[in-house]
Order: sequence, then structure tokens, then C-alpha cells
Amino acid sequence: MMSNSSNKDALNVVLKKDKKLNMQKLPDRILQIIDELIDQYYEDDRYNRPWIIGFSGGKDSTVLLTLVWLALIKIKEDNPNAELKRQVYVVCNDTMVENPVIEEYVTTVLQTIQKAAKEQQLPIIVKTTTPQIEDTFWCCVIGKGYPVPNNSFRFCTERMKIKPTSTFIANQITADGEAIIFIGTRLAESQQRAKSIQKNETKGHRLAKHPLNPNTYIYAPIKELMLEEVWYIINAFPSPWGFDNQILFKIYMDASADDYECPTIVTNDSHRSCGQSRFGCWICTVVKEDKSQNNILYNKLAA
Ligand code: SF4
Repeated sequence: MMSNSSNKDALNVVLKKDKKLNMQKLPDRILQIIDELIDQYYEDDRYNRPWIIGFSGGKDSTVLLTLVWLALIKIKEDNPNAELKRQVYVVCNDTMVENPVIEEYVTTVLQTIQKAAKEQQLPIIVKTTTPQIEDTFWCCVIGKGYPVPNNSFRFCTERMKIKPTSTFIANQITADGEAIIFIGTRLAESQQRAKSIQKNETKGHRLAKHPLNPNTYIYAPIKELMLEEVWYIINAFPSPWGFDNQILFKIYMDASADDYECPTIVTNDSHRSCGQSRFGCWICTVVKEDKSQNNILYNKLAA
């Protein structure tokens, strides 16, 4: 995992770049991903399999959605009369105990995405999932008397994050037959993440079969991107839904914890670990000290 100082070095390098890029000026590696997405969108499949993007508002899912968005725009530009039949769901889970700074940010971003998608006539639909009442943090801890989450009894990730998203995916598959889940995982993030991606891959195939859910496929379009490229896209290229990406950049600059989010989408049976994150719950008791929230608070007070 990248240290915080090298994380910030990477951010500073990309900040110095030209901020007025257009799509043609994107590096070949990034254009290649967009071309691959276009190719995948055109794939002739029985069900017009919907794309489901797990969106946390963090840098990787923001970049993933940015590239998908650009691919859709390019399809429309190349074929103005083409009907974009395949739906793209942007699914964000709200645990109902989110870090308030992040919650405010994510809510605004999601509203902006939905509005811009409608204006640009893109088949993008925003969905927010929440835990069932009996699975919420307060119901479990106060109502059922569970101990607060800890490393040996961490009921929260499964109930508050994974289950709501999995239910949405299962319902979608019931309705559409099959679905492709897009994940913003990158090989360079950590060895564990790299292993998790490679475990299900079939050489030469873009899509991997989901190891647990039938009729579900996994696609990790940005898996080859390095951290510098992720920040490059966020800082040098305007958000296609018209949001100010500098707000996201500032959230990361203000937080100092290692960048790790509790998963909302399960891609294998071992990918259920959790840790501290600027995109985590404010009640999180799994970590002794939440450096991320401390830094956000410190920076707010110092401002
Ligand atoms: S951030 Fe903490 S409380 Fe929230 S789901 Fe992850 S481990 Fe549980």
C-alpha cells in the first residue's frame, strides 16, 4: 500500500499538469480504456446486460465513472441516432452512519450526476442503497445488544454495506437476466487487491465470472492504472458531470489515513476485510484511532 507521503507526492506531480485538456489529449493508455469500454458497450448480448458501477465517491470510483461517461459520450458523438439501450446504474451505499463530511460531498455529487445524465441524455441511473432497518448500526447495537464492531465480531460490513448492494444486484439480475459489475479496483493498490482481481480472471477475457453470484460478471476497466494516472484524470480533466473535482482532491489532502475503503461489492469470498478510511462510518470502532477523521476535523478547525 502506498504511504501517505508518496500519495501526496503523486498528487502534487499531477497538479502541475495542464488543466485544459480535451478528450483527444488524454494519454493513450486512458484512451485505450475508453475504447475498450465502447467496445464492451456495443457487445451484442442477449440481455443488454446492465452495467452496475459501485460508486463510493472516492477517487477510483470517480475515475471509473468518468471513463464510462466519456465512452458513452463518444458513442453518442459517433452515432447521434443510436439508442443507448444498455442501462448504467451508479450504485452508492449509505450506511446511515457515514462520515458527515463525506456524506455531504457524496450526496451532492450523486445529485449532480443524475441531473447531468438526464441533461446529456445518457442512460445513467443513480441508486442509493441503505441497510434494512434490522441491519442498521443502531438497531444492532441498541436494539439487539450486539457489541460495537471489532476485529473478531464485525457484523457491520456485511449488514450495512455488502448486503444492501448485493440485494440491489440480485434484484437487477432477476429483472434483466444478467449484469456486469464494474469495480474500480487497481492492481497497483496492494498485493491483496491484485490477487483478488487476478484470482477470477481468465486470460484473454475482459469479463470474469462472479465466483459467488450466478449470471453476474465482473469487469475492472481501470485495473492497470497507476495512482498518478488516477489523480491525473481527476485533476487535469474536467468532470463530465460538471462537478468541481478539486473538492474531492481536497478531501484526500485533508485526510491522512491509508486509502482503504470497506467493500460494498463482494468480488470473491475473501474480500470482506475492513479498515479505516475517509470514506468509512463515523461510528467505526474497528480501528483504535481514525486518523482520517482526526485530520479532517483538525484541518477544519485550523482553517
Ligand atoms: S467503516 Fe467500520 S463500522 Fe463502517 S462498515 Fe467498515 S468496519 Fe464497519
